[in-house]
Amino acid sequence: MSDKISQKQLVNLEHRVSILTRLAEISTVINSTMRLKPLLEHIMASAAEITNAEAASVLLWEKRSNTLRFAATTSGVSNSLLGKAVPLDGSIAGTVMRERRVVVVNEVRAEPQHFDKYDEEIRFQTRSVLGVPMFSKDRVIGVIEAVNRRKLPWTEDDVHYLSILAAQAAVAIEGAQLVSRLESANQELEKVDQLKNDFIALASHELRTPLGVILGYASFLQESQDPEVTEHASKVVGSALQLRRIIEDLTNLRYLQQNEAELMRETVTLDTLMSEILPDVRTFAEAKHHRLLLNITPGIRIYVDPIRINMALTNILMNAVRFTPDGGEITLIGDFAPKRQMMLMVRDTGIGIAPEEIGRIFDKFYQVEDHMTRHHGGLGIGLSLAKALIEAHGGRISAESAGLNKGSTFTIMLPLADGK
Ligand code: ADP
Repeated sequence: MSDKISQKQLVNLEHRVSILTRLAEISTVINSTMRLKPLLEHIMASAAEITNAEAASVLLWEKRSNTLRFAATTSGVSNSLLGKAVPLDGSIAGTVMRERRVVVVNEVRAEPQHFDKYDEEIRFQTRSVLGVPMFSKDRVIGVIEAVNRRKLPWTEDDVHYLSILAAQAAVAIEGAQLVSRLESANQELEKVDQLKNDFIALASHELRTPLGVILGYASFLQESQDPEVTEHASKVVGSALQLRRIIEDLTNLRYLQQNEAELMRETVTLDTLMSEILPDVRTFAEAKHHRLLLNITPGIRIYVDPIRINMALTNILMNAVRFTPDGGEITLIGDFAPKRQMMLMVRDTGIGIAPEEIGRIFDKFYQVEDHMTRHHGGLGIGLSLAKALIEAHGGRISAESAGLNKGSTFTIMLPLADGK
């Protein structure tokens, strides 16, 4: 026997090396394709390429309906096969699936198993078929078929290469199916979330009108000469105001996802903004006999959505008033800060925040006080809303407190408007 490799063997070896190299390339592409449709198309095209076949198909097992269906077929042969089922009993792909084994058919005319119902429809007279199962762990998730209009002897190499491809394909398909299931679950969740938002928007709108009427009449009754009526009317007004706050919180829930691109920005100065917010805050603070001390440097220009920033600042200021027992002191300091920022500090002499709570007060729906014993109305979204809005503007907010009953300080930083 000669040690020399014959020319034919050499050509054979070269061919094998080139197919194995190609398989390695295909494997890289398959493993990095997360979308099911392009993935299936790539597997199908690769199946035809490595077996030198005229066409190929990928069929997937559908658990829900217990059927084997075409998921990708060589374009030009037919797209009309997509989604069509093949019988498990009485088709070559069905046999591959059922018997969990490779089926090699060199000439379909001698093969009663061949399912030719679709051949005519797609005008592709199949003569030879190679079908391999796609195993994932121990399950067959589908079948890859390579087909020709000519009869063939399929080679052992064809079977071998297609089986390697099938093993890689199975893992990749399962991954892509998982991604697509996650995506549809996500879309469902988004739909439900939208429904929830629509419902809240509608319900809070519908609640506001009758509440306005209640507030109007109750305030009118507060003016009564009868002290008993006045007292009862004040209780109604107090509760109605609390209800209005909750409705406002509900309406504003959607701003927790404030999109930076949706801000209607303009250049304003901090003192102008404060002069818009302060009247309401002042009325509320006076009712609680607080002293309000202001120290705002004029001319601090910021580029913000005034409505949203007002909403954020109002929440912080109103909290300072609410969480400070009557007769307290609220100090506002506004100034330029390093790194082209402005700083607004809101300091109160109120109930303060325990160190273990500081990290959580900006969380959605978080309130330090227990719901059952609460005196302060609200849904626990004021601070998370303020944080979301300030961060959408590229700013930051933080809280400090020396502890319970030692007051709190909230610090807001926002970038200055360009070209200050
Ligand atoms: P809510 O409107 O329900 O009070 P917020 O998100 O505005 O919700 O505030 C969350 C919690 O943070 C409050 O319930 C309160 O316990 C605490 N908190 C907020 N501001 C202050 C403050 N200035 N002093 C003390 N505690 C505060």
